[in-house]
Amino acid sequence: MRFGALEAGGTKMVLSLLDENGTMLERCSIPTETPEITMPAMIDFFRAHPVDALGIGCFGPLDLNPQSPTYGSITATPKLAWRNYPILREFEKALGIPVKIDTDVNGAALAEARLGAAKGLGSCLYVTIGTGIGGGVIIAGQPVHGLVHPEVGHQVMMAAANDPTPDGFCPYHKHCLEGLAAGPAIGKRWNTPAPELPPEHPAWDVETTYLAQMCHNAIMSFSPEKIILGGGVMQQMFLFPIIRRKTVELLSGYLCHEVVERGLEDYIVPPGLGVNSGVMGAFLLAKEALEA
Ligand code: ADP
Ligand code: ZN
Repeated sequence: MRFGALEAGGTKMVLSLLDENGTMLERCSIPTETPEITMPAMIDFFRAHPVDALGIGCFGPLDLNPQSPTYGSITATPKLAWRNYPILREFEKALGIPVKIDTDVNGAALAEARLGAAKGLGSCLYVTIGTGIGGGVIIAGQPVHGLVHPEVGHQVMMAAANDPTPDGFCPYHKHCLEGLAAGPAIGKRWNTPAPELPPEHPAWDVETTYLAQMCHNAIMSFSPEKIILGGGVMQQMFLFPIIRRKTVELLSGYLCHEVVERGLEDYIVPPGLGVNSGVMGAFLLAKEALEA
């Protein structure tokens, strides 16, 4: 058995070929241009490396309602060339194999729940803090879709007292998490790229205030058994203990659970699969496609 895993991102498409145990056999990366250019290149890869099923973890928003005529399409993306593009159907048509799609972050959350930091747990939240902020939610072992799918990055925040740009930089909303705390927002607020800001810079106090609010809101909204924070910004490992402390402060003694007593040490954590949450998520989607 061979499984294809596609990590479909706004800047690049990462294509992987894995065996049934999830061992990587081949990998290749293609820049994300228009569907007319990028789709044939991806289809060529999977024709040269035949697979029994394909899983896609895709940038969104996506139509994930199986009853919808546009199921498996990319919807209101700012990447105009991909707007309303039926990516799932096009792969099914070209390759003639089972294909399953979910958001990139739901895929990563699924992989973390089955194989990573939330292994053995029925629920978790996976959030990537990078070029954007996106969150995948697992409840009862399955990714949450619901009305559309969670858009954790666009929740409204309370302004941090020491934030010089409290409106944030989201083109859609003021005060939203992504507009306030994604890597580019940090860079714009302080006129310095996030990776260059030293640990003592006030940027990180503002950043951790927002990320702690997000963790608090998630705990209060749907009670995930683990919160996993990944993405470029979380390479700054010193942020973890600050986020945990500020989340405990926000919880204000309201929530009685031993994980809170332990200071959320083993609760707000980095991805157990490191940088492989995305590819393993797409791999699991491919396996589910074949089983379905
Ligand atoms: P993407 O979200 O595009 O998949 P990343 O998760 O690597 O990619 O996120 C890139 C963003 O993360 C950039 O905006 C950058 O500012 C920020 N970033 C990357 N590495 C670091 C780092 N070591 N420290 C702080 N911010 C970082
Ligand atoms: Zn927003």
